[in-house]
Amino acid sequence: MSDLVQDREESRSGDCPPCPGRPVLERIDARQAEIGKGFVVRRAVPTRARRMIGAWCFLDHAGPVDHGPGEGLRVGPHPHIGLQTFTWMIEGEALHRDSLGLEQIIRPGEVNLMTAGRGIVHAEESPTSDAGRLHAAQLWIALPEAERHRAPSFHHHAKLPVIERDGFAVTVLAGEALGEVAPAQVFSPLVGMDLTSSGSARTRLPLESGFEYGVMCLRGSVAVEGETIAPGILLYLGIGRAAVDIQCDEATQLLLVGGAPFGEEILVWWNFVARTPEEIRTASDDWNAGAFKEVPGTALAPLNAPPIEGLRLKGADR
Ligand code: MN
Repeated sequence: MSDLVQDREESRSGDCPPCPGRPVLERIDARQAEIGKGFVVRRAVPTRARRMIGAWCFLDHAGPVDHGPGEGLRVGPHPHIGLQTFTWMIEGEALHRDSLGLEQIIRPGEVNLMTAGRGIVHAEESPTSDAGRLHAAQLWIALPEAERHRAPSFHHHAKLPVIERDGFAVTVLAGEALGEVAPAQVFSPLVGMDLTSSGSARTRLPLESGFEYGVMCLRGSVAVEGETIAPGILLYLGIGRAAVDIQCDEATQLLLVGGAPFGEEILVWWNFVARTPEEIRTASDDWNAGAFKEVPGTALAPLNAPPIEGLRLKGADR
């Protein structure tokens, strides 16, 4: 899965309210875009209200959508720098190919983690032309200064820790929770969890008090500290909580992400995470000049970078 809604404006992490330093409950509307027949993508981060949660700098909830034959995912080769793309597949399948020459199908319950580092190119498409269904979360993790120029890599994680807790199946996607450690290699203190219930459930989930957190509902509805959210809303929890109360009355799925406040200002433009406009310009020029490696095996046409003139020097207005 990829950045399906192509932003044409930069996002500066410093251009939003800072981490409040205490627990809060802030409802943030995801930005919605329909990118195909009934295929809704909800972008909860970045928005003007919240650019990052820990190192998590991009939270997209894609689908669910049923598609006809030949109408599946087709995202041509495009570059990334300075981040990790973290794909959590809920329903359906996608075929990843990258400039390292790797090919990997991702299926429900699995994670694809691509570490762009100094630069990688990938393409993603439905593995067959059959009709199908697609539902996924696409997340980005900003790499800290000491790691953002590292060599690119890609890892597929088919088996993740799952803990049954008070009616929820808690999958540890990234980091450590409930005594279990996810296999994904990350470079900042952070956590990601999926909580799925088949009916009513209630739990009090321990948190790391030095992390800020946010919750995105993927299916059904859920009350978090008494605040009810459904898909399309990010509930930002702030920092300084030792636990969080989570309750639902129906089959529900939610994503909980958290991390230590990132501490570095980042600049996000198109598929690049950097620090300065000059770095973004260089990456964009390199892409347009064909300086990135190719993705073997894909028939899809490369994506064009948006005009660099759109890169403004002041914060984005959204
Ligand atoms: Mn991508």
